[in-house]
Amino acid sequence: MNDYGNDIVSFGALDAEGWLSSARRVESPNHDDRPAGEVVSLLVVHAISLPPGQFGGDEVEHFFVNALNADAHPYFSGISQLRVSAHFYIRRNGEVVQFVACCRRAWHAGVSSWNGRERCNDFSIGIELEGCDEQGFEDEQYDRLEKLIMTLRQKYPISAVVGHSEIAPGRKTDPGPFFDWRRISSVAGSNCNSMCRKFSDP
Ligand SMILES: [Zn+2]
Repeated sequence: MNDYGNDIVSFGALDAEGWLSSARRVESPNHDDRPAGEVVSLLVVHAISLPPGQFGGDEVEHFFVNALNADAHPYFSGISQLRVSAHFYIRRNGEVVQFVACCRRAWHAGVSSWNGRERCNDFSIGIELEGCDEQGFEDEQYDRLEKLIMTLRQKYPISAVVGHSEIAPGRKTDPGPFFDWRRISSVAGSNCNSMCRKFSDP
């Protein structure tokens, strides 16, 4: 026995489309159909902050709904035209924001491959943590991420949890060296190691 049952109830549930009841919904237009018959089998952990390394603002949410003010910061002018999104965003205080229903294909992974399959967006759910490559993450973020993984595993046949850096090596570095994979190993699966976190019971 463990405490997950009660925790999961308070954490919320996924509806038929894959909206999490407890998440604050900020709908992004940046999504499209998953390929016909495709099932979600991969979770991709990311980290993002805008400007990089600064926490607490609304810029990431603006970015994912195509409303980032290009003039507000030099860094923004280079990214404000991008059309990207993620399904979930876990803020430093543990708040969970959802931009895209899990049944839809969010645009988080870009050029990527996992286990010989290209275009990871087709078959994955993207989870952004408010963070960067230079700092650790908050306890509240690990707590919500664990619960989110548990909740998603109840609905989808998830076979692995990976970092963006693993599916886009050389191009992406997030969630970065300070993300502690051991903190989620109990929910991600017993075969957890530094570069491969396949579940033992896919
Ligand atoms: Zn990423």
